[in-house]
Amino acid sequence: MAMNLSGKKVAVLGCGRSGVAAARLALAKGAGEVCIFDSNPKATCADSALRFVAGAGEQEAQAFAAEIVVLSPGIEADIPWTLAFTCAGAPIIGEIELGYHFYTGRIIAITGTNGKTTTTALLEHVLLQAGHTAKACGNYGYPLCELALLPEQPEFAVLEVSSFQMETIIDFRPEVAIWLNFAPDHMDRYTKVEDYFNAKLRVFENMSEEQLAIVRVGENLPGVKPRVAEFSSVADSGQLYYKDGYIMEGPAQLTKLRGTTLEQAHNAENAMAATLACRAVGLSDEQISAGLCSFCPPGHRCETVAEMDGILWLNDSKSTNLHSTEAAVRSQTRPIILLAGGKDKGLDYTAINPMLAEKARCCIVFGQIASQLMNTFSPVCRTIQVETVQEAVTAAAQEAKQGDVVLFSPGTSSFDQFTGYVQRGECFRAAVLKTLNL
Ligand code: ADP
Repeated sequence: MAMNLSGKKVAVLGCGRSGVAAARLALAKGAGEVCIFDSNPKATCADSALRFVAGAGEQEAQAFAAEIVVLSPGIEADIPWTLAFTCAGAPIIGEIELGYHFYTGRIIAITGTNGKTTTTALLEHVLLQAGHTAKACGNYGYPLCELALLPEQPEFAVLEVSSFQMETIIDFRPEVAIWLNFAPDHMDRYTKVEDYFNAKLRVFENMSEEQLAIVRVGENLPGVKPRVAEFSSVADSGQLYYKDGYIMEGPAQLTKLRGTTLEQAHNAENAMAATLACRAVGLSDEQISAGLCSFCPPGHRCETVAEMDGILWLNDSKSTNLHSTEAAVRSQTRPIILLAGGKDKGLDYTAINPMLAEKARCCIVFGQIASQLMNTFSPVCRTIQVETVQEAVTAAAQEAKQGDVVLFSPGTSSFDQFTGYVQRGECFRAAVLKTLNL
């Protein structure tokens, strides 16, 4: 159900990879005029053949008088700059909505507060291993518009979707949608948790009984119309559950995850969601198990950096909210030295106190929120405050005993001291290797 762009004036907002793909796709599908706009005067466009305005403001927006406005993922839909482009009454659609109308394959969408990228990469891997063509795209990997432009489109788009991208859909309808979990995050962008929740929930908006929703047990999603299959890392609940290192279905052991990269409970949830999705699109259980067991997850997600003198050092720098830190703590079976801290995103960390009291021997807190975390954690757990990640590693090396896990799971974003979670994770890794003389 391709969208009719013929002769239309299309404004694409944002000149990153998604914006360029959207502009190329709109032109390829017959749009009359396409122009990319960016508010940054220093912005450049990777494709010099495209019409592009850097430092665009209200004047340029009005002069263009777009009939359709396509938004890149990073740009908010309700800010005055974006709204200026709708002065002639044009609808705003996201890059995903545009791509959806021209991508001809099957779509599996993945949303949730945490685990999207791992599950997206995992699904792509399992599908490829089973002999299908598939591409990870959306928030992770290719923009969907880029996929739609390929001369030979893959059978499957495994599409990681964020709440922001779901704000700008109209007809978007995946064949399978995975809801991994939900917890407050991005409260610097949303004023109410409900707004974040409702934006995510829109992934199901156009789905019906013919499509499948895959949902974690206990998520409580109102008004979901597709069929639902549930999974759980708690024994004996949901169609699939996790017990003693196995994905279980009723009394049957389906896949042994113990000893694989997915054995921790939160990754087992990702694996169960992927299992249900792959079954729904026709893969056999043997194909799925083989794919799960040969998967190598993307870095910085509870990744082992070293194991020395009986102490395991894990890099979970991708943990940028409390929920992912909670999941990482819950998944550990050894006494924990937790390293947490970073930018102040306005989150309250008291929720993990009971778990820290039970599982952590020591917390080492760093960065902008160090003193907040010190106040929060110290009543329940020995807590040490430092400034930097390097200092945190030095303190951890002094605290850790044989049999412990040193878990670097910051629980907030890194922008107080780093350019992003990758740089933060590299810094942790380098500090560990140096401290251990490796
Ligand atoms: P996202 O793309 O949603 O940010 P990632 O796969 O990049 O998800 O993982 C982000 C963080 O969440 C990492 O710290 C990772 O260890 C943790 N995580 C991964 N899967 C889950 C899950 N199912 N539940 C909770 N936390 C998870």
